[in-house]
Amino acid sequence: MDISLTHRLSYKQARLTVLVAFLLGTLLSLIQVGLDYASEDASIDREIHSLLEISHNPAARISYNIDAELAQELVLGLLRSPAVMRAEIIDNSGLVLASVDRPPVQSRYRVFSDFLFGERRQFEDPLFVSHAPEESLGVLRLEVDTYAFGSHFLRRALLTMLTGFARSLLLSLILLVLFYAMLTKPLVGVIRALSDRDPRRDFSPVPCPSHHERDEIGTLVAVANQQLANTHQEISQRREAEDRLTQYLAELENIVSARTAELKATNARLTVSNHELERARGTALEMAQARAAFLANMSHEIRTPLNGLLGMLALALDGSLSNEQRQQLSIAHDSGKVLVELLNDILDLSKFEAGQLELEHIPFDLGTLVEETASLLSQNAGPNVELTCLIDPQLPALVLGDPTRVRQIVSNLLSNALKFTRAGRVDLRVTPSPGGVRLLVSDTGIGIAEDAQKRIFQPFTQAGAGITRQFGGTGLGLALTRRLCEAMDGELTLNSREGVGSQFSATLPLPSHAPPPRWPGLPGRIAAQCPAGSGLAELFDGWLPNWGLSYQRYDDELPLDQADLLICVDPEQLPALRQRTSQPLLLVSAYGTFLQPEQTTALAPFEQLARPLSRAALYRSLQRLLTPHQASDSEPQHKLPSRPRQARVLLVEDNQVNQMVAKGMLAKLGCEVAIAAHGGEAIAHLQAHAVDLVLMDCNMPVMDGYEATRRIRQSGDWPELPIIALTANALPDERERCQAAGMNDYLAKPFRREDLAALLDCWLPLTSEP
Ligand code: ADP
Repeated sequence: MDISLTHRLSYKQARLTVLVAFLLGTLLSLIQVGLDYASEDASIDREIHSLLEISHNPAARISYNIDAELAQELVLGLLRSPAVMRAEIIDNSGLVLASVDRPPVQSRYRVFSDFLFGERRQFEDPLFVSHAPEESLGVLRLEVDTYAFGSHFLRRALLTMLTGFARSLLLSLILLVLFYAMLTKPLVGVIRALSDRDPRRDFSPVPCPSHHERDEIGTLVAVANQQLANTHQEISQRREAEDRLTQYLAELENIVSARTAELKATNARLTVSNHELERARGTALEMAQARAAFLANMSHEIRTPLNGLLGMLALALDGSLSNEQRQQLSIAHDSGKVLVELLNDILDLSKFEAGQLELEHIPFDLGTLVEETASLLSQNAGPNVELTCLIDPQLPALVLGDPTRVRQIVSNLLSNALKFTRAGRVDLRVTPSPGGVRLLVSDTGIGIAEDAQKRIFQPFTQAGAGITRQFGGTGLGLALTRRLCEAMDGELTLNSREGVGSQFSATLPLPSHAPPPRWPGLPGRIAAQCPAGSGLAELFDGWLPNWGLSYQRYDDELPLDQADLLICVDPEQLPALRQRTSQPLLLVSAYGTFLQPEQTTALAPFEQLARPLSRAALYRSLQRLLTPHQASDSEPQHKLPSRPRQARVLLVEDNQVNQMVAKGMLAKLGCEVAIAAHGGEAIAHLQAHAVDLVLMDCNMPVMDGYEATRRIRQSGDWPELPIIALTANALPDERERCQAAGMNDYLAKPFRREDLAALLDCWLPLTSEP
């Protein structure tokens, strides 16, 4: 590491010292020159005065004697003094006895001398003799050239200054050498020793320059050595740590590679077992699908004869029979229906398992669906059980979803509630809930023990062993209901206490499709006789004020004059009531206790309604009784139209039993029925006769239903003609197949008369109500 001269410490020190020494030397020289000047200045006067003193007596005697010759000699003698420029002796009369002069010395340095001492000086010495000092003999006058003295002074001053400079310079040089030797050289040595070494490897101590062990350089070297030792120690420790780290890393790498190898082996094993699982899954899926297909086919095979069986039984039950025969046939019919339900449940469950259940997303009237289901199941209610449908007035008129599946949920929950309730209430509440609806089926039945509450949602499981014995059942209903709810992204929850009752709540995300129904207001005051806490009282509370009616409930005796209409639940009280009042009467009771037509005419104005009450039926009866003269058709707008009387239906069916069943049902529904045994016959019949609706079996000899429908649609002759598929095929893609062929709707065999009626209602053109 080279340090340039001007940056060296010794140079800087020397420079500073020279500057200081120079300034100091100059100052001292100047002081010395000043003192010299003062003494030189005084010495001029002193010297001339001593010259005058020496010349005084001879000059006085010469003046006294007036000896011009001697005077001349004297002044010439005075002029020999190098400083004297002019010398004169003047007598007391002012006469110049002798006078000599010479020109001043010329030199270029004169100006400095003249500046310091003046150009010339004049001296006068009055002449007298010692015995007569008061008598003036004349004057000795000298004019002195100061340069004679000044030149000496200037020489001396110059010498003083020059020697001053020379001293300073010498001193600086000495100091420079000393500083270099004392400071710069040892420091440069230390710096070299430090900079020449490898800072990462060489940590040997830096040698201390000799004779500097105890001074600042020695201390500096000691501190640097100490730092080097520390650094060395630290680096050694770091190296050690690094070595350990590298060792750990190597160990870690070994572990990781060992683990990786293990993982690879496990992965390979997993892949193998995954493949096996995949194969097993594929086989299971295939088996499930095969089972589903088998079930569907089987159900098709079972349904076809069942359809005949049930249809025939229903027809037979409509004929005249002895009581015993009726009872036997009813039991056979009910058992057949249970068989169909069971078949449906098993089929649905297998569809779930095979992942084939598809849900519809169509608008439907949930309130009416619930009321219809309750009405259908009401015959299962025990004599001491009050079944009530409580529809929230704010429930949307139409919701979007799968009506068939919702009906299944309601029907399963309600039939359970009715089955397990001997006395008290069974309520079916439908309320709007955020994002959908809530169906709440509550009963005051036997309840479910806490430990059984989770179990009962498993297929083929019941709450207790005694249940099957006492109530029958398969244990499929709740399993299916829960899966249906979950398939709709809904939830089924249970709240039950043994011996007190159960509450099943199904929350279903069925979005609203139409606002709540608007019912035109009814005028009048209603007095109803029904027990407080009964379902009927709750229903009246909810609906009558909603229709604009003022309503009052009474436990027994009805006030006759405070109401426009009296509602009664006990048919036996009616005759007595009629005798006391002419107000319209409405009886709400079970079907079993309905009055015969001859009794009802005696009670007019009178109507009777079966429990559970539906909103529409209640509204219509109230409207007829309260405003008998007004047009009675002010139903809410969402109500579906009824089918026309004498609709001409073409039944295309190859199976004779099924022909008879369907024909019987259609005849009962007021339809005119024509029969074709296959598709070809059907087309021929259509060409010859007018037809309002076709019921088309799908699987037939000669020409099946799909082909026949395709031809009917292709011909373009009957574009509006509704064609309803009748099929016992329960496979999930059956509906799409029918639609693809051009059919409008689908009815699965075996069907009930109500199913058929609902379908006709839906597809036959609007007419006034029968
Ligand atoms: P099933 O009714 O055919 O036996 P479910 O799956 O519908 O099959 O019901 C399973 C069991 O749950 C019933 O056997 C019964 O023990 C119990 N259960 C269901 N609903 C009720 C209810 N409302 N009250 C009391 N127990 C009920």
